[in-house]
Amino acid sequence: MNINALQQLSRDHLAATHNRLPVCFTHGEGVWLWDQDGRKYLDSFAGIAVNTLGHGHPRLTKAIADQAKNLIHVSNNYLISQQAELACSLSRLSGLDRVFFANSGAEANEAAIKVARMYGHQKGIDSPKIVVMEKAFHGRTLGSLSATASETIRTGFGPLLEGFIRVAPNAAAIAAACEDDSVVAVMLEVIQGEGGINPIDDAVLREIREICDEKEALLLLDEVQTGIGRTGKVFAFEHSGVVPDVVALAKGLGGGVPIGACLMGGRARDVLQIGSHGSTYGGNPLVCAAGLAVITEMQEKDLCGNAERVGMHILKRLRSEVARLPGIVDVRGRGLLIGIELDRPAAAVVHLALDAGLLLNVTSGTVVRLVPPLIITQDEADELISRLLPVLRTFLN
Ligand SMILES: *Cc1c(COP(=O)(O)O)cnc(C)c1O
Repeated sequence: MNINALQQLSRDHLAATHNRLPVCFTHGEGVWLWDQDGRKYLDSFAGIAVNTLGHGHPRLTKAIADQAKNLIHVSNNYLISQQAELACSLSRLSGLDRVFFANSGAEANEAAIKVARMYGHQKGIDSPKIVVMEKAFHGRTLGSLSATASETIRTGFGPLLEGFIRVAPNAAAIAAACEDDSVVAVMLEVIQGEGGINPIDDAVLREIREICDEKEALLLLDEVQTGIGRTGKVFAFEHSGVVPDVVALAKGLGGGVPIGACLMGGRARDVLQIGSHGSTYGGNPLVCAAGLAVITEMQEKDLCGNAERVGMHILKRLRSEVARLPGIVDVRGRGLLIGIELDRPAAAVVHLALDAGLLLNVTSGTVVRLVPPLIITQDEADELISRLLPVLRTFLN
């Protein structure tokens, strides 16, 4: 279908929730995507930090195809070997013993929020509260939306869930909020993604862990965007040495198939019991086979090391070649989660980049976000930068 007709069809029949760029991809390989006209794009967006192994990855596509032939879905009423194996891998990697599988990041956070509330009730707290951060993004379902900060995203959906206390992401503010005896958890992203690539200091995260320990509150980390190698470690919390009680995962875990996971350890380990939570699709054989392929490839090819090395290379080049351009406020990030903050609304950068054969997005209005697949090579990273530089120069001119 030609692009204008497709655009019209989408306008006529899809909910108007997304502003879709006028391009339709037909296939991909590695960090590259091709559109209907055969034009090639370097994908530095990876479906919002989802395509960990890039596109058309042989191991992932084979795992999905083989699994689909054998069994796509049964039900959590039965044992599922792929699910148990993936849970075992995630437990070993995280140090958290138990895994609940969901289908998205929002749902992984819903599970985390329910665990925190249940934990509170088990301690005799009738109206448990969760401390959440300014600029946080945790998803669009009502629970995760209530934990999300953005007024734009929240507007029109009240009354939202009660029981959240929002504070600035620093130890003093969190400690003060934790004075409230009904606080049962502190929830945060190790690096805020949608909020504009805002990292929390390793030392601050360690302080927050201590505050939680004193209070016997759970530390819930939303690693939906930062998890599975994105920042150069399997989990972003590893940089600080902190061990959280609950971790939400999704985006990078399935390499493109919808999967979410809520990892529970420490005080949260045995909070969920028979009947206290559930999911029809969560952890089905297909998505877990994909998750296993992603994790196996990540480990065999040291994609964490690659994310760290190539991420550092990109940051270095951006710092020397971009940071001093007038209009650039900051270049920051860790591993392959990189933000370039501009001094003005930057939405138009996306269109200029598209014209230059580069896919990226802008988050929080002014921050150009780079989240390429973790398999990106240094040469491809150089190509990314050589496409990005003229785009930024033109935009800022
Ligand atoms: C994307 C994201 C979510 C929501 O994930 P969905 O799969 O879109 O529901 C939650 N938290 C963080 C940190 C995210 O980046």
